[in-house]
Amino acid sequence: MLTVDDLSAGYGPVRALDGVSLTAARGEITAVLGANGAGKTTLLRTISGLVRARSGTVTLDGRVLTGVPTENLPRLGLAHVPEGRGVLAELTVEENLRLGALGARRRLSAGDLARIYELFPPLAERRTRLAHVLSGGERQMLVIGRALLSRPKVLLLDEPSLGLAPRIVVQIFELLRGLVRDDGLTVVLVEQNARSALSIADHGVVLNLGKVVVRDTAATLAGDDGLRHAYLGF
Ligand code: ATP
Repeated sequence: MLTVDDLSAGYGPVRALDGVSLTAARGEITAVLGANGAGKTTLLRTISGLVRARSGTVTLDGRVLTGVPTENLPRLGLAHVPEGRGVLAELTVEENLRLGALGARRRLSAGDLARIYELFPPLAERRTRLAHVLSGGERQMLVIGRALLSRPKVLLLDEPSLGLAPRIVVQIFELLRGLVRDDGLTVVLVEQNARSALSIADHGVVLNLGKVVVRDTAATLAGDDGLRHAYLGF
């Protein structure tokens, strides 16, 4: 279980996170929602040490992650897929995937790659192609596949749906649901697209101006008209 306790962080005078607490249970998807600038990306960046926590702690299965160098986190079971789908365009799809295991200093078995190709058939078809030929949806699959090759307990995913066709979003979200169900993966999903995120999440937290406004089951959040209008935009 990932636990975030009273976490604060910012940029110079900007206080982007102000005492945020949440838990993401094993085998669940926790959606982090809220308007532009609410602090969602900063939350993920602070959990993975890219932004320094000013106070508060992050623990994974009881182990304190706060203060651990970012590059050591994959080995401890934390994978972060930032927004923007960054891939190395001049490497092949398979070379990009291998980087996921390298980051966690894991040896890849043939079975590891086969599993990713089974999960993401379009990547299997393009395994020897350069990553720059991929569509947006395929790139999203590649960055998720690469993160999975570090064998994470917890996957932090920032805006995976941004700019993708609704059909592709459904495909990627169904896949995440499967990983959570079959592998006990824990997912923290940051999304602007609150409606889609709540349709696959178990729980959700809504941020506003760096603070948690509400946390509840995804079904309860999705059914709260006032909350939807005020913070979720649907
Ligand atoms: P978005 O969906 O637009 O990414 P968000 O909810 O992820 O929004 P953050 O990107 O975490 O929000 O931003 C939280 C606050 O921190 C905002 O006020 C934002 O302007 C500010 N901020 C974010 N990144 C920086 C930065 N690198 N330097 C200064 N301020 C920043």
